[in-house]
Amino acid sequence: MDNATRLQYLEAMGIDVWLPKAVADQQQEPVFEAHETLAGPVLETVDAIADNILPEPEAVDSWEALQAEVSPCTKCDLCKSRTQTVFGSGNKNADWMIIGEGPGQNEDQQGLPFVGKAGQLLTEMLRAIGLEREDVFIANIVKCRPPANRDPKPIEIETCKPYLMRQMALVKPKIIVVLGRIAAQALLNTDEPISKLRGKTHALNGTPVVVVYHPAYLLRSLLDKRKAWADLKLALQTYQNIKG
Ligand code: URA
Ligand code: SF4
Repeated sequence: MDNATRLQYLEAMGIDVWLPKAVADQQQEPVFEAHETLAGPVLETVDAIADNILPEPEAVDSWEALQAEVSPCTKCDLCKSRTQTVFGSGNKNADWMIIGEGPGQNEDQQGLPFVGKAGQLLTEMLRAIGLEREDVFIANIVKCRPPANRDPKPIEIETCKPYLMRQMALVKPKIIVVLGRIAAQALLNTDEPISKLRGKTHALNGTPVVVVYHPAYLLRSLLDKRKAWADLKLALQTYQNIKG
């Protein structure tokens, strides 16, 4: 992505970007600053959700075994319309795991998560808190594209979610960032609206979870850009607290 496009994305998120002249002249990375100082986040811990049980510690699992199961999977109807499964990508030992909803058209074609427009914004959102895509592991709740980008059905989510839970058990992230309502509700086993889920820290099997608006939603509704930035900062702060 060129710098102009990047600046547009960041501005759309309400992040001021300024380039000191000398730095700009050298064409270095932009320096970010929040538009405004946001009040401290509300830290609220919700208990781990019993349904999302991780595999038994003694159960032997591996990336190879998991990938070999996901790739030809026909456990739910989404297999019928997909081009290919989208397993997930990134650093398999990442401290950060980013969870989306499901592949869109570009992802279905390329076999990789978040490679379309929303993916570009996600890349910029991560950069804004100092992360490159290679630093995180990105996966979706469902591994196959729902036809015409409809929401995945509860049965599809429940059928596919064990793969994600196994990915989490393998990555062992220190923090999980969930993007959007569908993924947040699926992961936290709740019907709460995203407005109630964001802005606080949840816990899933002892790992902190922060809910952030989905970048595809932010592309349509820039009204919530400041909140998304606040949530990203909450995620960073939560992570820094864990790291001490
Ligand atoms: N939206 C998602 O939730 N996941 C992707 O991989 C791409 C777009
Ligand atoms: Fe299998 Fe998940 Fe694809 Fe359904 S969405 S076919 S459970 S990989």
